[in-house]
Amino acid sequence: MTARPRGDTADVVVIGAGSVGTPLAYYLAAGGVHVAVVDQHASPGQGQNKAAIGGVRATHSDPAKIRLCLDSLRIFSSWKEEHGDDIGWKKGGYCFPAFRQREETILRGLLPIQKSHGLDIEWVGPEEIRTLIPGVSREGLVGGTFSPGDGQASPLRTVNAFARAAEQRGARLLLRRKVTALRIDRGRMRGLETDRGTISAPVVVIAAGAEAREVGAMASIDVPVAPDSHEAGITAPLEQFLGPLVVDIRPGPDGRTSNFYFGQNSEGQIIFCYTPSALFVGTNRESTSEFVPVLARRMIALVPRLKNVLVRRVWRGLYPMTPDGTIILDRVREVDGLFLSVGMCGQGFMLGPGVARCMASLILEGRPTLEPGDFGSLSFYRDFGARKEALK
Ligand SMILES: Cc1cc2nc3c(=O)[nH]c(=O)nc-3n(C[C@H](O)[C@H](O)[C@H](O)COP(=O)(O)OP(=O)(O)OC[C@H]3O[C@@H](n4cnc5c(N)ncnc54)[C@H](O)[C@@H]3O)c2cc1C
Repeated sequence: MTARPRGDTADVVVIGAGSVGTPLAYYLAAGGVHVAVVDQHASPGQGQNKAAIGGVRATHSDPAKIRLCLDSLRIFSSWKEEHGDDIGWKKGGYCFPAFRQREETILRGLLPIQKSHGLDIEWVGPEEIRTLIPGVSREGLVGGTFSPGDGQASPLRTVNAFARAAEQRGARLLLRRKVTALRIDRGRMRGLETDRGTISAPVVVIAAGAEAREVGAMASIDVPVAPDSHEAGITAPLEQFLGPLVVDIRPGPDGRTSNFYFGQNSEGQIIFCYTPSALFVGTNRESTSEFVPVLARRMIALVPRLKNVLVRRVWRGLYPMTPDGTIILDRVREVDGLFLSVGMCGQGFMLGPGVARCMASLILEGRPTLEPGDFGSLSFYRDFGARKEALK
């Protein structure tokens, strides 16, 4: 690491060494520019990246997100072969089982758009669901969707693999530095101030996750990203028995959960989460006493054989939420040289590599990897009240 304390310069500074900023530093450095990535923490991925359970899917309802995640899947699945690091990639697919007409209609309704954007996904019958999720409850099971190309990876291994690859290409990781101000002169980006000195740069990318609003305010722009807290947990390892990551989109009978999901990672541990029925806005990251009991009831009702697994650890992290559940990738019109790569909601880990390639292409080549219409749908200047993503 080559952190220089004062009077530093770079072609591009990325704020945030997280799920998005770290791969972005890699693709920018690979493109030949001098890039510095600044983070307040002592190592990459210590913001929300490490809170993710590692699910990686292109199974979305929004064309831009489908395209970005297909790109991410290509990168995750080939990383070990191309770079040598084991990032815990497990290609087991994603399975959304349905137990009622309502969920069947939602899931089947999404298939045409998903397929038209190149997703390998099918509706499968109850027999196949029982093979994919051994021990799943048969009660009311009508089938579900299965997308075999999706998978899982370890967020911390991945972010560190990107950080190493970025440094090998000349990127500098400036850690334990909090960005305190953006330097803007006559509408042009000049760099930024940190608590350990100034960095001059004509281009700055905000990839500050749940803190994007605070960092945006340093440029007098209002970035509509609010921290929304979610809990997760992990069990002791079990023999591998479950291929796909499973998402049950039914609202829970408990009245507290709108869906829940779990998978078995490459080390055999069951890793799980639920989405609370109401947003839990705020930055409190203390675990609640209700998470495990509520989750356990849902999980055991779905797969009774999981009733004896040992829960090893729980944690709580923050989704960087936008009002419409879709991400923000854009060039800031008010400040020449300022870019936004924020609002990743519950999918920043899976989106990270695809988003990074898209933003690196925008910054280096002047055009994103997405088609203009799809890229436009992620604009900072869109109407955030106009739509909602179905599988956010
Ligand atoms: C329980 C849970 C489960 C999840 N599961 C998944 C999943 O399975 N798959 C998935 O894709 N996503 C998942 N997510 C979501 C995912 O974790 C986030 O969307 C993602 O990490 C956001 O990436 P980011 O790069 O925007 O933010 P981060 O990874 O948080 O990176 C932002 C970085 O910016 C730094 N920063 C902010 N402000 C400053 C400043 N002023 N100065 C210096 N540094 C600063 C922070 O320290 C941080 O390191 C989950 C989240 C939670 C909470």
